Amino acid sequence: MAEQQIITDVTQILDIELTTVTAIVSYIKRHEELHTLVSASGDIYYVSNKERPRIVNQLVRIVIKATGWSPTIFEITESVYQSYKGKIDSTRSQKSALVTPNMGVEELLISAISDGVSDIHLHVWQESFIEGRSASDNEQQNISSSWIRFRKHQILVSAARISYEGAYNIYRAAFTSELYGCTNIDDRKSNDASFQYHHQGKRFLVRLASLPEARGTTMTFRIRNAEDRVDLIDCGYSSKQLDIIDHFTNRNAGLLVIGGPTNSGKSTALTAILAQMTDRAILSYEDPVEVLLPNVSHIQMRRDGADAEQAIRELMLQTMRMDPDVINAGELRDELMMSFSKEKATEGKLTTGTIHCGRIIMCLNRLLQLGMSIDEMAAPDALLGIVAQKLIPVICKDCALPEHPEPKIHNYYQTHLGGEINYRNPEGCNSCGNTGISGQMVTSESLAINSAIRALIMQKDWLAIADYFWDQEIETLHVDALMKIHQGKLDPQMVEQRIDSFDSDNLRHYWHKEKPEQGNKLRGSV
Ligand SMILES: [Zn+2]
Repeated sequence: MAEQQIITDVTQILDIELTTVTAIVSYIKRHEELHTLVSASGDIYYVSNKERPRIVNQLVRIVIKATGWSPTIFEITESVYQSYKGKIDSTRSQKSALVTPNMGVEELLISAISDGVSDIHLHVWQESFIEGRSASDNEQQNISSSWIRFRKHQILVSAARISYEGAYNIYRAAFTSELYGCTNIDDRKSNDASFQYHHQGKRFLVRLASLPEARGTTMTFRIRNAEDRVDLIDCGYSSKQLDIIDHFTNRNAGLLVIGGPTNSGKSTALTAILAQMTDRAILSYEDPVEVLLPNVSHIQMRRDGADAEQAIRELMLQTMRMDPDVINAGELRDELMMSFSKEKATEGKLTTGTIHCGRIIMCLNRLLQLGMSIDEMAAPDALLGIVAQKLIPVICKDCALPEHPEPKIHNYYQTHLGGEINYRNPEGCNSCGNTGISGQMVTSESLAINSAIRALIMQKDWLAIADYFWDQEIETLHVDALMKIHQGKLDPQMVEQRIDSFDSDNLRHYWHKEKPEQGNKLRGSV
């Protein structure tokens, strides 16, 4: 390598396209001190240093193994490397700087929608507030005291720092302008509003919420594409789970519950289920109405306000005069809606609803809290089944790492989960907008309530229901996630952050069947 000509001018390497071969990219990331570039054709550009030859030789072997080509090696100066990196970093920051300091609601919404953002977090912060000084004492201090963050595929990233005045104007305009929220707001209280927004021929539903806090106000915009319909088969359910869901939707009576936290795809799943039932009369109660389906009557239900309860009771009465086959009760969050749903389900209507619970057993508990008695739950044809789900970010396949950069973490998952595991690349690549994430998918568990489960419900024996899952090889949330990890779609660390740890209990079905000795090892370690 010593005879290599040294490249001293950055223009000589500016047009090289960097490799995206994962093994090479991850090796370079682990040895960033190497200051090396590898082109798409496998050529290596490295900054010489006498401590580095061993690492460069290893890189040469990796390039040969991954591409089959013998690389040409160029030595570059440190300044050439740095100016190349500078160019890359500045294109990167230009790409992420979608948000400018002086934008209004319109520009903010357009930039979020164009980037596929699901939520905007606006922190209207007056830094001086907390220090007991007014903003005008020191205007400089205020220039970027506020903050805009975007959530896309569940990952929250910083979009821009802006001035308090700029942020406050966006917050006020979003809520009060006739174009948007059109509501009266009080800075000292929490505020809510929603509006429809049209962009490039598509209809979006935007929900606003704000809370006063120590430095000012925190506000969120939740953006949903009102035409964004997903087929059930594309939601991410396994074929076993799709069979269970099909079994539910073919029934004529009973309650089907979909559980999950906020942003778990519950409404998307319900919409997909209702969309399939083209030959039935469906009434759907929603707050607010999001996606319109041709085979469904969507009814806006007002759930807040002084006379909301009365309004809901009137809707319930009217429901039966409308001769529906299927009723979607929407979110079951209070006893009134719970009693409505169980009444319709036992009267011989297929009824659907959602609850805020991530696991099947918690959903059973929550139904009890909402006023469904054990007897009602265990009655034949009352509760049909439960689907509990969460949405997990999918790692970008173009830049996923085959090894976790931290050997400790890599060994941990390799020992506990086995198989081939990919990890999110925190640096990302061009195709994932440098996030390492390319989308999100459902992980879920589904349970059809049969006579065995009914007997266990009568005894309120939740532990025995958990055992039943393992005995019957029902895919739990963890087993479903593990299958998707082994398909290279999910990062185990992100799964654990969003579900909970892969401990021995959560995987015992999988381990007992496949690798009992590893199951024991796992059991000993937790
Ligand atoms: Zn990527």
